[in-house]
Amino acid sequence: MDKRNVCVIGAGVAGLTTAYLLSQNRRYRIVVAAKHMPGDYDIEYASPWAGANYMPVSLRGTREEQWDRDTWAPLADLAQNHPDAGVHFQECEIHSRAKDIGSATADWFAELLSPNPWFKDVVPNFRVLPKESLPPGIDSATAFTSVCINTAIYLPWLVSQCLKNGVIFKRAVFKHIREAAQFAPSGKVDIVINCTGLGASVLGGVEDTTVVPARAQIVLVRNDAGKMMDFSGTDDGEGEACYIMTRAAGGGTILGGCYQKGNWESQVDPNLAVRIMKRAVASCPTLTGGKGIEHLDIIRHGVGLRPVREGGTRVEKERIEGLWVVHNYGAGGAGYQSSYGCASNAVQLVEETLAPASKI
Ligand code: FAD
Repeated sequence: MDKRNVCVIGAGVAGLTTAYLLSQNRRYRIVVAAKHMPGDYDIEYASPWAGANYMPVSLRGTREEQWDRDTWAPLADLAQNHPDAGVHFQECEIHSRAKDIGSATADWFAELLSPNPWFKDVVPNFRVLPKESLPPGIDSATAFTSVCINTAIYLPWLVSQCLKNGVIFKRAVFKHIREAAQFAPSGKVDIVINCTGLGASVLGGVEDTTVVPARAQIVLVRNDAGKMMDFSGTDDGEGEACYIMTRAAGGGTILGGCYQKGNWESQVDPNLAVRIMKRAVASCPTLTGGKGIEHLDIIRHGVGLRPVREGGTRVEKERIEGLWVVHNYGAGGAGYQSSYGCASNAVQLVEETLAPASKI
């Protein structure tokens, strides 16, 4: 049996999904090596902090659209058929205010805010909400059925699926990507998959300085919102956002947020936390039965750094110092909703690099 040794660097949603898909082909002996693993909460590890839901912001006709498209069916399958993965269906409302047109958030959300986005035939029940049903201050809105992922269940679930398929997990901190060549279960590593997120900006041999943080601050509460909501903007400044999502299986409700590009600050800004909570209870009175923020039951405050890459997620192969590397990093705020699309693309690149790769 012609087995090939693969080292996946990174145990965020990108690394775990790639390892999971790759491990379905028994031809590969896989080690996932990472500084942070599911269970850790750290500013260098974006995945546990995410909402996480499926709200595409990718533009029509781009690679990102294809990755998001390819991810809906696997996530819907998890919600439908695998309750142990911690993913559930949830209604989602996208609210637009005319005054936000041209702002950074509205530009970023251009496709999401459109009454005719590419994903309207991908997600179930897409509809434009009647004007008379909209709350004051909202000029238009759409709704659809999406999914919300409880990352505290889903990331360990991905680890379990990998373990069942024989994947080995190890803690490691790499200064240079060439060090991953030593991480084979036996023999030499044939290919390294680089899923280091923001870490790709400093990892030797990669040092992609176009990867920068987009800081996200959230409040996780016990209150139930009943649906997910997202807004085209807020009255609190360009870098601020308002979104609400209730995670599956008792995971609490995430209140967000902000999108602060280039900001590495790991500590919670208490003033921003108050603004996040005020916006959430004003936009979604169900959270507190119409009462103020003192009726929010806080589980924790959090800060995560979305790994944003100029030019979009990097799914590419490259030869670095004689070592084959497939990259899958830089998904920004879309790491979950593009996860299966990007990971299958990365698996394809591994297969064509190590050809012939027949399924065994
Ligand atoms: P990470 O999760 O950061 O993982 C990187 C991994 O690489 C870690 O294991 C780390 O230890 C390892 N690593 C890095 N460098 C090294 C090194 N040198 N040596 C060893 N290991 C290394 N996305 C959505 O799709 N939907 C959402 O609703 C959503 N909401 C979000 C809300 C918040 C508050 C935040 C912060 C993000 C949100 N995102 C969402 C974005 C999503 O979380 C990210 O796109 C995704 O988690 C990135 O995953 P990753 O695996 O690329 O990186």
